[in-house]
Amino acid sequence: MNNLNKFDFDVLVIGSGPGGYIAALQGAKNGLKVACVEKMDSLGGTCLNVGCIPSKALLHSSETYSSIKKSSAEEGVNVTGLTFDLSTMMKRKNDIVLTLVNGIASHFKKLSVERLTGSAAFLDKNTVDISGKKVTAKNFIIATGSEPMSLPFLPFDEKQVVSSTGALSLTSVPKRLVVIGAGVIGVELASVYSRLGSKVTIVEMLESITPTMDVAVSRQLLQTLKKQEMEFFLGAKVKGAVINKKGVTLAVEHESKDLSFDADVVLVAVGRRPYTKGLGLESAGITVTPKGFITVDNNFRTVHPHIYAIGDVIDGPMLAHRASHEGVAVADLIAGKSASVNYTSIPNVIYTHPEVASVGFTETEARAAGLNIFVGTSFFRANGRARCIGDIEGFVKVIGEKQSGRLIGMHIIGPEASELITEGIVALDLKAKVHDIAHACHAHPTLSEAVMEAAQQALDSGI
Ligand code: NAD
Repeated sequence: MNNLNKFDFDVLVIGSGPGGYIAALQGAKNGLKVACVEKMDSLGGTCLNVGCIPSKALLHSSETYSSIKKSSAEEGVNVTGLTFDLSTMMKRKNDIVLTLVNGIASHFKKLSVERLTGSAAFLDKNTVDISGKKVTAKNFIIATGSEPMSLPFLPFDEKQVVSSTGALSLTSVPKRLVVIGAGVIGVELASVYSRLGSKVTIVEMLESITPTMDVAVSRQLLQTLKKQEMEFFLGAKVKGAVINKKGVTLAVEHESKDLSFDADVVLVAVGRRPYTKGLGLESAGITVTPKGFITVDNNFRTVHPHIYAIGDVIDGPMLAHRASHEGVAVADLIAGKSASVNYTSIPNVIYTHPEVASVGFTETEARAAGLNIFVGTSFFRANGRARCIGDIEGFVKVIGEKQSGRLIGMHIIGPEASELITEGIVALDLKAKVHDIAHACHAHPTLSEAVMEAAQQALDSGI
């Protein structure tokens, strides 16, 4: 690289989450001299340490217990004395995290990405301070992620009032768990503890749950979670809290009534905000939006063309896979290649049971955008494989645009939705038509036939 001798690195990546570590690896693959600085001892950021991975490990363990309890007799499997051990579940989760975190460290070694430990703070636009040491770089990628938002009267102690981080490391199953916020984190972690025996109450400010999902999917998910004995208060406002050694009492306003909820543990899952604390953005003249997101252009450049920002710290859906894609794109742009991210085909998944997955326009968004659409739905109760695995709840909805015939959205609630959605992602990426999905031969008996049948239904609906 030109002028590299003036700088310690071609690229310094700040943060080692799924945005940062992927950007660092891609930079190294592109032949650049790359370092990645992380303030935690462990690489991997929120996703690997206190987010996606540990939550999915606990969702799996709790679902294993719950499904054996619910359906073993029906399957002709006799189980007696079924119990679970939370500490073993937690240990399994920690071991999975450790394996994956060590995997990043060995990838860094293999591709000669230098790992720096400490908090990076900009001193000027080409220099950061890392624990008292000055490090210079020709380019920077800020990938510092996000942190949980708290409520003013409910500060996190991560024992009685927990964020997702604390909820992933409880030492016992709370008898009464109140969850504030019925977004992705709220419904996933509520599912874990409900399956393990907590009495779960979810308080949500809006009139629906998981507000970014297709309305029909969100409605079905609400019904299903209620059947799983989670109690919901929608359109409810948490007004205050009293915290003492015995637990937390929440004051909640619901349908003009004042209610009070006692909880052993309260999970506050009301969203996340960009994390830029201590980064010294002002020293480098880097600007943020009123919500604290770093401002970037279409090529992820801040006010300085050599300082980029990606992932949760910039505006957009806070998703690990989006951050990773932006990381690859930025590392390619720095190496002089052309690169972009296709935001229309970024999927959203909720790992409840059944799972929820979506990509592209919801029906409401498509209609609001004035698109002329055709829609088809197929129910898992009519799917042979779903019957065989005893998982018949849910449906696939396919949305096409009439003039082009192209798929513009797919929404699934049902078994393996997180995997099934990939057909929709690839179709959207390839600008495929609904006809292409409807006429591709899908193996029988598979859950994916429901995707094909939803596409066929959409075509039959009168394109
Ligand atoms: P979210 O934005 O998904 O949901 C927050 C919910 O809290 C919303 O429904 C909101 O209306 C509600 N809310 C806000 N203030 C409230 C209040 N005072 N009282 C009651 N309800 C209130 O946020 P999250 O669930 O905290 O997740 C944070 C981010 O992490 C999201 O962007 C999410 O996409 C991401 N995430 C993704 C996954 C996944 O992909 N499976 C898993 C976990 C988190």
